[in-house]
Amino acid sequence: MALSGADPSLFERVLEDLDPEVSAAIDGELARQRSTLDLVASESVPPRAVLEAQGSILTAKYADGYPGRRDYDTCEWIDEIECLAIERAKALFGADHANVQPYSGSSANAAVLHALCEPGDVVLGFDFAHGGHPTHYAAATFAGRNYRALAYHVRRDNRLVDMDEVETLARRHRPKVLFAGWSCYSRHLEFARFREIADEVGAALVVDMAHFAGLVAAKVHPDPVPFADACTMTVHKTLGGARGGAILCRREIAERVDAAVYPGEQGCPLPNVTAAKAVTFRLAGTDAFRERMERTLQGARTMAEVLVEAEDRTKAHVVTGGTDVHQLLVDLAPGGREARTTLGRLNKIGISANAIALAYDPRVEPACSGLRFGAMALACRGFGREQFAQVADILSDALANGGEDPGGSLAERVAELTSEMPLYRHLA
Ligand SMILES: *Cc1c(COP(=O)(O)O)cnc(C)c1O
Repeated sequence: MALSGADPSLFERVLEDLDPEVSAAIDGELARQRSTLDLVASESVPPRAVLEAQGSILTAKYADGYPGRRDYDTCEWIDEIECLAIERAKALFGADHANVQPYSGSSANAAVLHALCEPGDVVLGFDFAHGGHPTHYAAATFAGRNYRALAYHVRRDNRLVDMDEVETLARRHRPKVLFAGWSCYSRHLEFARFREIADEVGAALVVDMAHFAGLVAAKVHPDPVPFADACTMTVHKTLGGARGGAILCRREIAERVDAAVYPGEQGCPLPNVTAAKAVTFRLAGTDAFRERMERTLQGARTMAEVLVEAEDRTKAHVVTGGTDVHQLLVDLAPGGREARTTLGRLNKIGISANAIALAYDPRVEPACSGLRFGAMALACRGFGREQFAQVADILSDALANGGEDPGGSLAERVAELTSEMPLYRHLA
């Protein structure tokens, strides 16, 4: 199709009419989301108001710099929006300073390392296969490429972060930055002990709360802010909103963090996303958000309880025997099942989740033994204890059968639950 710049209707035609291919793919994805039990722990359901802001006319605006000191004029409304986002983030988390420009959680980590380290400095993070995130240390990322990055692990006996190893590695290698934070872990971290170790060796403590920022905002998780020099986060995981990252930090390093985000690691911020972040931070201060986070925790606990109860039948072990957060990890090794194959079968029933390598996994990548189930997306959809118990029943019946659904009855139960609890009611 020829797109003519002279055709004024180009700017007014709806997507369905202008680009039926992309439009149909979005509709397809909406239908998939509606009919799926989403147990992907990093996914949520952004509210309509967040989508509205993120898809707004702010999209094209250039605004390099920070409120009151931009490289472009005509940023008065962008300044207002960014100030709202900053003030709301600071109030929500009780932080000295907030930078709301990072494009993602990964960019937030890159900026914090940029602010606090010189290339070649030692960084200590949590091993990916043990629950950490690659952007803390892994060779394939900027962290491993630019810094001398080392990793700590969980203990073999209780699968909790080995704080003695953190201490030993920190004393021996004296990192500039010590990361605390996880993607695949189901227990609280010992922030006070991390702080002690960081102080002893002169490291900055960075808490990456990409996954649990929403729980912290709702005060249903220990608060890392008083312990950390900086906290990085995503705004789209448990915070449930705009697609992007943010950084909180102590006053003393605020200037360095701001300079590391822009111009250090990024160009112009995304004003449409900044607006959606401001809306997200506002929503995260409400009672409704807190109630949803409580229901999320309760949902994860309920699923863990049902799956622990069913362990004899499923031969799938709930790692650490339960959860303190919005997700749980399940180890398929006792039944000898491979996680990616099993997940493929769960997908056919209408369940999405993640296959993950677990600490001390007997399988070699890309094969793995772990499944991660999160409760957040379903809690956004309105699921409560009763529905989460049904989800867990479906999961345990499937896992007892290697993920298969021979009679099709599990797929039917999924279809019933997803139609009882509709998604995006305002959309056609
Ligand atoms: C998801 C995640 C990130 C990365 O966030 P993106 O927005 O996907 O780049 C960083 N750290 C942790 C701990 C995460 O779980």
